[in-house]
Amino acid sequence: MIANSDEDRYRKAGGGYNAAMTLAVIGDIHATWDNLGPVLERVRRERVDGILVVGDLGANEFGLLARAAPDTVRNYRESAAEALRRVRSLGVPVLWVPGNHDPRDLAGEGNVDGRVSTVAGLRVAGIGGAGPDRYGFAYEWDEDEILARAVPECDVFLCHAPPRWTPIDMVGRAVHAGSDAIRRCAERHRGVLVCGHIHEAPGFARIGECLCMNVGGLGPPYGRPQVGFVRGMDELGHEDLASGTRQRLLRQG
Ligand SMILES: [Zn+2]
Repeated sequence: MIANSDEDRYRKAGGGYNAAMTLAVIGDIHATWDNLGPVLERVRRERVDGILVVGDLGANEFGLLARAAPDTVRNYRESAAEALRRVRSLGVPVLWVPGNHDPRDLAGEGNVDGRVSTVAGLRVAGIGGAGPDRYGFAYEWDEDEILARAVPECDVFLCHAPPRWTPIDMVGRAVHAGSDAIRRCAERHRGVLVCGHIHEAPGFARIGECLCMNVGGLGPPYGRPQVGFVRGMDELGHEDLASGTRQRLLRQG
């Protein structure tokens, strides 16, 4: 049924996306159910065509998974699967990438890491994990690894890490912790890029013809009930459900 309604909307749009297509974007969940609940309720009211999840799905305490015991890894995978189950309960297509806390090989339907998939007529290309700084998390990379990947034709880049040298990759007031390779993807792209990873830097950035949004984290540190929306290819929205603050970025103006 889900696939049918998605297909119907796709056909109505003439085989491609239109301005009426809306995707929700959910940030680093970290198994924080108290914040995910109101986010899913908000998404349900919006009647979206699909949901993008930027990774870091499981319980935060298992973060340094690369060195974790087998039991810890199993618990983490279960909490990550539960996060996806809860998002999928809304009954619309869900695409996601693993974050730096997630195992690189985290399996599940809708994982678009290193791939392109179509939702609501939009081609979504995924880049999971984070870099270039290495802290021993489960899924970290060097810039060269990402630069070596072919940049696919797409409408939306779904990344875990933000593009560097923007307001949405800032840790504190002075440190830019994003990726130059992700930034390179944005510079060549006319469309949208959504990301998370830096929990405390939700917001927007414009890189050339690419509209970028860090949707912010649900889990600690700095976790809040917050959600993003991609409306067509020309409008991004961000809502902080705790403060009621709504912001948007328009391609024009
Ligand atoms: Zn995170």
